[in-house]
Amino acid sequence: MELTVLGCSGSYGAPGGGACSGYLLQTDTTSVWVDCGNGTFGHLQEHLEVENLTAVVLTHGHPDHCVDIYGLHVMLRYGLGIENLPVFAPEGLEKFLLALVSDWGNAFDWRAVGDGDATKIGDIDLKFSRTDHPPPTYAVEARSDGRRLIYTADTGPGWSIDAFEPGADLVLSEATYLHDSIPAPIHLSAKQAGEAARAARAQRLILTHLWPGVDPAVAAAEGSEAYGGSVTLAAPHMITTV
Ligand SMILES: [Zn+2]
Ligand SMILES: [Zn+2]
Repeated sequence: MELTVLGCSGSYGAPGGGACSGYLLQTDTTSVWVDCGNGTFGHLQEHLEVENLTAVVLTHGHPDHCVDIYGLHVMLRYGLGIENLPVFAPEGLEKFLLALVSDWGNAFDWRAVGDGDATKIGDIDLKFSRTDHPPPTYAVEARSDGRRLIYTADTGPGWSIDAFEPGADLVLSEATYLHDSIPAPIHLSAKQAGEAARAARAQRLILTHLWPGVDPAVAAAEGSEAYGGSVTLAAPHMITTV
């Protein structure tokens, strides 16, 4: 299973192509776009023919994780003529986002996700866990061919990746802040991300969703120290095998 970072800027876009949260998960037969943050749809098209998209997952309704669904809707409906693309999203998000489009036509097949739910998309098995974040938000575990990725989505320290089985091959964790400056406890610091990954015996840790302006080198150092090994920082167009 391959992970492509389409965008990783925390909460709002950053200069120089700094799109918000979006990831492409792929196997030979399956392509899942996880989070449609602003700026990620353009980046997605650099890695995938949109007609080959298998499904979309939206972890929650904050704009930095979902607004490029609007662009996808227009392309499917008026460009490609594709109908019923599965979109896995928290209950009610379909209606919440509807105000900007009047109707979704038949572009999507919306499927509500709840805490503890599991589903299979192509040859990727997904599990969802409700995180510590104000709107209903779901972390995602993706498993394929014996390899496993955990993506925290957005979360405060009241939830941890220990909601899933320990020992994941790759943890993609939000790390919005540095630990000495946490303006809102609805996100993690790099230190908290590192500590959680260490406790859950993650084989590898990638930090993402850094707040624009946070010094990436300092975040990486803080995360690495807490994790007890070196961490990687997500970057747009980074591709890694899980
Ligand atoms: Zn966010
Ligand atoms: Zn959020």
